[in-house]
Amino acid sequence: MTAATLHAPAAGVVAIPLREVLPWVIFAGLMCLIGVYFVGAEEGATSIIKGMYVHEFVHDGRHLLGFPCH
Ligand SMILES: [Zn+2]
Repeated sequence: MTAATLHAPAAGVVAIPLREVLPWVIFAGLMCLIGVYFVGAEEGATSIIKGMYVHEFVHDGRHLLGFPCH
């Protein structure tokens, strides 16, 4: 192997069409919103899961992110 082949340029950058990326961006955004809901609002009147299990599970994250708690 010669030095020229060792330092050969990598393959060109492939552009990803927005049409292919958009569903994943929307999915990731929804997952982020669900995460923010469970960390920040899954408590009391806005709770959709009975009990305090979710609240206690994400309790440290709630305090870390500055959501009001107790
Ligand atoms: Zn707390």
